[in-house]
Amino acid sequence: MKITQATIFPLSIPLIEPMKMSHDLITDAKTVLICLTDEEGRTGWGEASTAPLMTGETLGSLLANVKYLADKARALEWNDPKRFSVLLDSLLYGNPSAKSCLEMALLDLYTQKESISLWRYLRAQSGMAELETPASIPLLRMLGGSLEKEIAEAKTFRALGFRHWKIKIGSLPLAEDLHRVETLSDALEGDVISVDANGAMGLANAVLFCESAAARRLAFAEQLISADVPIEDFVALRKKSAIPIGLDESIHGLGEILQFMKADAVDGASLKLIKIGGVLKAFECAQVLSVNGLKTNLACKVAETSLSAAATASIGFAMGDVPWGFSMSNQYLRFDICTQPLVAEQGHLPASQLAASGVGITPDIHRVKDAIAKGYSLIQY
Ligand SMILES: [Mg+2]
Repeated sequence: MKITQATIFPLSIPLIEPMKMSHDLITDAKTVLICLTDEEGRTGWGEASTAPLMTGETLGSLLANVKYLADKARALEWNDPKRFSVLLDSLLYGNPSAKSCLEMALLDLYTQKESISLWRYLRAQSGMAELETPASIPLLRMLGGSLEKEIAEAKTFRALGFRHWKIKIGSLPLAEDLHRVETLSDALEGDVISVDANGAMGLANAVLFCESAAARRLAFAEQLISADVPIEDFVALRKKSAIPIGLDESIHGLGEILQFMKADAVDGASLKLIKIGGVLKAFECAQVLSVNGLKTNLACKVAETSLSAAATASIGFAMGDVPWGFSMSNQYLRFDICTQPLVAEQGHLPASQLAASGVGITPDIHRVKDAIAKGYSLIQY
């Protein structure tokens, strides 16, 4: 398979409402889409979002790296998906987000050519038994804002079928966060509730949080302490914690999963394509987590479009189970880039929405062009 043309779209899509993280306020999704054309005229699409505090990528840097890879990719043959990441690594060091963007588009082309959906292809490659209809993936809904707003939102979305929740913590005093968690645990009794501090807590407060009776109903607590602290702090936290410990910013690939696993410092991990470096690597991580009895949370950065959501969900359908849910972030966008975006059905994503061959989402070129970020323009080779 040869690439004959590449078109790159730097986008900025406003969120329905700003999203408050412990160290960040996100008002719009900055994301890069690529459309590759092969020698038979097929088009394949890929996406990667910026995440300055997770991958170090801004729109400008991500665009530059995607452009560089796309230009070099045209000289190569892309016949074997298992070699895609080897080839991409031979073109550029590091830069997992840009590589994920290219890999997604290449996988989209390859699986379209093979007339198979991406998730079925992944499943077949893994050697797991064929799955006719995988279970719908539970979608995880983020809660934030004032407690009144969080409770109102929880009620609204619970009535729509959502049962998985993530409460952003770490920017308020500990006692206040614990009060929020306890109140929301009462309101959402029986559901799968998690918290995410994006590394904003010190070890002492993280231990206090995890030992508190107010947090006892949580399914897991994600990245309470910074990815920059020594692994001994993570070991100490998990040892003292009454609730399972999830990691996100600390995990950028299989090496870190194995390292934290060996140290008994983790119960599960959040997998995002932009930090792991693509679908195939993230799928391998999910398999290793599962085999070792650890839990997987699949996640898109806030926010990515239906395209990235589809590629990420493909890992979940191939696995057959996503115990800690899927943070599908296109639900926070004011508009999506395709005419039939992925949508929650009873708080879940059914595999029927990814029945087409390829990744399963074909962006609408007019919508994509309308979302080009201010000060940028599309790039075509
Ligand atoms: Mg997280």
